[in-house]
Amino acid sequence: MPTRMRCLGLAAVLTLAGVPCQAADVAAIVGATVVHPDRDLPSAVASNTTVIVSGSRIEAIGPASSTPVPAGATRIDGRGKWVVPGLIDSHVHFFQSGNLYTRPDVADFNAWMPYAKEVERNKARLPATFKVWLASGVTSVVDIGGPFWNFQMRDAAVRSPAAPRVAVAGPLISMVDRVKLDLGDPPIIKITSADAARALVRRELERKPDFIKVWFIHQKGDDLAAQEAIVKAAGDAAHVGGVRLAVHATELIVAKASLRAGADFLVHSVEDEPVDEEFLALAKKNRALYCPTLFVILGYRYALSNTWQPTEAEWRLADPQILAAMNDLRKIPKEKLPERVVKAMSQPVPPKPSAIALQNLRKVWDAGIPVVMGTDAGNIGTLHGPSVFREMEIMTQAGLTPLQVLRSATSNGAKTLGMERAIGTLAPGKLADLLILDADPLADVTNLSRIHRVIKDGKVFVPDELMRSVAAKGGAS
Ligand SMILES: [Zn+2]
Repeated sequence: MPTRMRCLGLAAVLTLAGVPCQAADVAAIVGATVVHPDRDLPSAVASNTTVIVSGSRIEAIGPASSTPVPAGATRIDGRGKWVVPGLIDSHVHFFQSGNLYTRPDVADFNAWMPYAKEVERNKARLPATFKVWLASGVTSVVDIGGPFWNFQMRDAAVRSPAAPRVAVAGPLISMVDRVKLDLGDPPIIKITSADAARALVRRELERKPDFIKVWFIHQKGDDLAAQEAIVKAAGDAAHVGGVRLAVHATELIVAKASLRAGADFLVHSVEDEPVDEEFLALAKKNRALYCPTLFVILGYRYALSNTWQPTEAEWRLADPQILAAMNDLRKIPKEKLPERVVKAMSQPVPPKPSAIALQNLRKVWDAGIPVVMGTDAGNIGTLHGPSVFREMEIMTQAGLTPLQVLRSATSNGAKTLGMERAIGTLAPGKLADLLILDADPLADVTNLSRIHRVIKDGKVFVPDELMRSVAAKGGAS
């Protein structure tokens, strides 16, 4: 069944899914309030502005009174609307769906739903998953680690008529095994020597990754210096190949070891103790990006205690297949539930964001280290797409203003993709990745979910229509 996907704008034509929109045309958003997240107030806000999009790029942007609309351009009335750059999620995983069955190493539901079936589902569902990202206004994502088929996923995104731009890392170089995730193309590979780390990096470099990723798990009794040497070997090999090093490190000593080993991107908060001057100096020296990734742990706790509830944005913008599956704990017989789930369900504790992680976010921000917004979407309870609105709301609890949060999700996020010259800001010559909103994102970050239109590469999408095509039978057309 063909899905209806209107490529407004440009030629204001109705196209069938699978047929790329005409991009050689011109669209004009007239009279909108443009928010420039890379600037400070008051210059961040430009009211009564016209944005001209030509092909895949922004051609002009300026006061409506002095920015003429070219003849033949498709006019989009921007009055009472806001324009911001497309959102960027710097931390996602497409090999995971967000449902209960997606991390058997954490909660093993194989007795009810074989993991192999879940992985097949996730691969087949990619076209729909791409669409839910766009519908949530996310025009770029960074998949920071998964199986080797991640590289095919990136190719599929490029070919898809409706997908965010995708940067990708391959399998995680890990300190620990995750055998339950290994179906022949594991997302996590245990490495025990510097030589093995270099060999795996070489294999990944053949696929032209955007990052090499290390899962730096440091447990009691582990030799931190020996682990750091493995991370450094991976980082050095990545850097020789012109690729940056991303590291999962959630404790202060591990995060510092990662930075000493060359980390360019810390994909989680430091959660165990306050960051100190040494940490901040190391991060600055590396020009490292810091992704706080605050919601994901709450997502697990809600989902595995059967207290996960969709937000208003998730009702509208999450994949309905995943939403339906979030209630499955009610129908799985008790004897098929993992023990930890039975326990969590018997005493659900409402989770709260880590106070230390929130304080550290503020300190890192104030030190001038680039903070990038990322959800870790795909993990249990953290849904592809609208989980960005949960994440951004929690970031404000650290004391970041809506403008600062928006900066982390746009102009800073562009740095994660290494595309800060092309995306994340609104200026002539930039790629036309932008959102038209029905509500003021600086009054409340959740207003970023009130999306009138999403423009990616100059193609105009209507969130409702994207979601209708996802809900249609199969959702993958
Ligand atoms: Zn992750």
